[in-house]
Amino acid sequence: MRKIKFSALIILTISATGYMIWGNTSLQKAVLQNLQISKPHLRGEACLKVLEEKKVNFSPLGNMQDKKPCGIENAVRIEGFYATKLSGPLTLSCMTALSLANWFEDIGAKQVTHMGSYNCRKIRGSSIMSQHSFGAAIDIASINGASLKSEWQDEGEKGKYLRDAATAACDYFSNVLTPDYSAAHHDHFHLDHGLRLTCPRKPKNQHYRLANQ
Ligand SMILES: [Zn+2]
Repeated sequence: MRKIKFSALIILTISATGYMIWGNTSLQKAVLQNLQISKPHLRGEACLKVLEEKKVNFSPLGNMQDKKPCGIENAVRIEGFYATKLSGPLTLSCMTALSLANWFEDIGAKQVTHMGSYNCRKIRGSSIMSQHSFGAAIDIASINGASLKSEWQDEGEKGKYLRDAATAACDYFSNVLTPDYSAAHHDHFHLDHGLRLTCPRKPKNQHYRLANQ
């Protein structure tokens, strides 16, 4: 009995210490900002080479410095993807650009209107830096003429296309925020490689492939 009490005390002490350390907001920030997951692990030249092979129209910008902690590792400026026209150029990390290229191929995106990529700022209502601050996030307003603002809830083909595209995006990004997520996202998809793992639920045992649509 004494042994059980002693073990319980140890577990309690470890948990309390862990909570106190995790409760330190600067540690939380460091973890949440720097841990990026489910992104292709191709660094430097290797990543640029894959973008070239995918016939992405881009210029390499190297490591982009900005006021701390903002900046982009292995930044690229993208004018367009092989089969996808953009409403304007994008500045992203090479790895995020690659995830985007793969997703666009998957969903057969021919024309994309975006609302920006790189932006040194905090997440709204939080003290944590947005993944936009590291070139690891993008906001998308419409794909192939289907608008997030007006057609997300649509019963027709455009609405279904957007909802399927969001589900597919979970194969390439860890966070896929849709108009269902919050009022701030009523008119766009926010996609990033951050830690939170926010994705629309996938149907069980069904892997979405939307190529050739
Ligand atoms: Zn965003």
